[in-house]
Amino acid sequence: KWLDVSEQIKELIRQYQWQLGEKDIMLSYSLPKTDIFGDPVLLETVWDNLLSNAIKYNKTAGTIDIKLERVESNIQVVFQDSGIGLTEQEKEHIFDRFYRADTSRTRAVEGTGLGLSIVFSIVTMHGGDIKVESEEGKGTTFTIDLPIS
Ligand code: ATP
Ligand code: MG
Repeated sequence: KWLDVSEQIKELIRQYQWQLGEKDIMLSYSLPKTDIFGDPVLLETVWDNLLSNAIKYNKTAGTIDIKLERVESNIQVVFQDSGIGLTEQEKEHIFDRFYRADTSRTRAVEGTGLGLSIVFSIVTMHGGDIKVESEEGKGTTFTIDLPIS
């Protein structure tokens, strides 16, 4: 099915408005209308996991920046947060099933550790890829590339 990625993400942002406000997080985005061919339910799961993580593992009064860009026959979606970040070792494992960074920081946050492994499978299934960059204590950036069709 053809779907508008920007509309999907904007709708999710509306759904997370309350959580964003509660944590006093400033979210900015650049989401030009971009249609791609894929499974709408699965792709919504991807944005949902990335946005919920960016909120859960953020600081009070932190920031989130979401960018969507067309790059040749692909789209690139970037989720950047100013959260707790990940160590080099943690970074190696975050796409593993049930992995959660074993620190007191995440123990206070609910989750199963399945989100990113599902995200990875869905992105791969669509012929795309996902990368993570992070600095401990500073923030994390996920970059997703997906073919338009
Ligand atoms: P679930 O998504 O199933 O509710 P979860 O959020 O703990 O649970 P994942 O989304 O798979 O699981 O993330 C795995 C782990 O990676 C998290 O527990 C957290 O330690 C770390 N992590 C994920 N996203 C971020 C982020 N944006 N900033 C810092 N750490 C993150
Ligand atoms: Mg998650």
